[in-house]
Amino acid sequence: MKVAVIGSSHGGFEAVRGVLKDFPDADIEWYEKGDFVSFLSCGIELYLQNVVKNVNSVSYATPEGMEKLGVNVHINTEITDVDSEAHTLTALNVNDGKESTEKYDKLILSVGANPFQLPVPGKELGNIYAMRGRDWAIKLKEAEVTPGINNVTVVGCGYIGIEAAESFAKAGKNVTLVDTGKSILPTYLDPEFTKILEAEFKKHGVKLALNQSVKEYVGDDDENVSSVISTNGDQWDADLIIETAGIRPATDWLKGKVDLNEKGMIKTDEYQRTNQPDIFAIGDSTEVTFAPTGKKQIIALATNARRQGRSAAMNLNDEKRKTTEVSGSSGLHVFDYKFASTGFKDVTAEKAGVDVESVFVVDTAVPPFVHDDKLNAEVYFKLTFDPKTREVEGAQIMSKRDVTANINTISLAIQQHMTVDDLAYADFFFQPSFDRPWNIMNIAAQKAQDKLD
Ligand code: FAD
Repeated sequence: MKVAVIGSSHGGFEAVRGVLKDFPDADIEWYEKGDFVSFLSCGIELYLQNVVKNVNSVSYATPEGMEKLGVNVHINTEITDVDSEAHTLTALNVNDGKESTEKYDKLILSVGANPFQLPVPGKELGNIYAMRGRDWAIKLKEAEVTPGINNVTVVGCGYIGIEAAESFAKAGKNVTLVDTGKSILPTYLDPEFTKILEAEFKKHGVKLALNQSVKEYVGDDDENVSSVISTNGDQWDADLIIETAGIRPATDWLKGKVDLNEKGMIKTDEYQRTNQPDIFAIGDSTEVTFAPTGKKQIIALATNARRQGRSAAMNLNDEKRKTTEVSGSSGLHVFDYKFASTGFKDVTAEKAGVDVESVFVVDTAVPPFVHDDKLNAEVYFKLTFDPKTREVEGAQIMSKRDVTANINTISLAIQQHMTVDDLAYADFFFQPSFDRPWNIMNIAAQKAQDKLD
């Protein structure tokens, strides 16, 4: 059996691993249009902040290592067409422009997404960057140490924009963060949390330009960007723009080949099958099932791509395993604050028209008698639930101490359709260096019971 996998980031890598495990006799053809396999954009921030020194180490695999495992790796090879009836692919060698026709028995698409470029006047100027993939990572790193680049504008306050803003602020640049929303991280956290993080950004000199967008980029004599005009009419200096205003699936070439939805996302079933026989799709160019609603939606995360990659490989011949529904769990930090969230927040539930209630708890990480800044810190926790069924629908947590792992427990509670009553007296361990006799999830769930009863 010849299995072709297109794309070599999180999804593609996991699919190849899965095929190696489940079908050791398969011929695996792994296609990547870039000149590097398995670059992981989640590591860019650590590279920009000098925690990871070598950009090439931000990867799970090398062509040589994969070839040793029997995988045929084709870098610099863009797949430009698929004939699902003939089971063939058109492969373009991006170096010499030559095309070839390649056969497959099973095909796994993990083509991911491209950064969205703002369609505003001045978009063609120099020094307008994105933050995704190895090439942009290298350019961003160069910009970080370029003396003439002092004023950096980051467009978009999702988690990628937050990582960019923090990295360039730590590198000593004047950073302005622009977003149309009224708070940062609008799909990840409610205002109780974002107010604290916004103050933290300001404390570190990052300017916030919220409730506005970019109207125009203005250039200098060298045709590099020199300032930004915002939709509010404000104008400020900018030597570098980092656009992190969303992504678009890299699926233009698949139009008419497999079913796409109106946003260009590849439609799949729960076994990762597309509408075409023997063609599977995974990762950021597909949707996932959101556990609180049971409906498909876009949640572009490496964790989802990995889970889907594993499923696709397992299901190549038979329906072995449905991909797990997800709660959209993610975590990040803003300077000293570490936070994570999962499921619905008040803001996202309101947007989705879903009726939820929430309780907010402020506590300490360990008992108050522990006066040690490394061990103890304030913890902010919000639990969101369905007032009718009492089911847990989401949670957010933040502290200067790392208590983010609690969110994984809530993610599991959501997937298992547990109620606040299940959580209120659940058995969580206590030891004064780690926790309190009542874990903050117990406290919040008890508060939720009081609110509901
Ligand atoms: P992609 O990563 O987009 O990879 C697609 C690959 O396919 C690319 O290498 C591309 O060159 C190749 N390709 C595309 N089309 C073709 C073609 N026609 N022919 C050949 N090759 C092709 N997620 C988390 O869970 N946690 C994090 O902390 C996190 N941090 C992130 C930080 C940043 C800065 C970014 C940008 C993303 C982050 N993510 C994180 C999201 C995560 O990186 C993505 O969800 C994940 O990379 C999706 O994997 P993918 O395989 O679907 O697609």
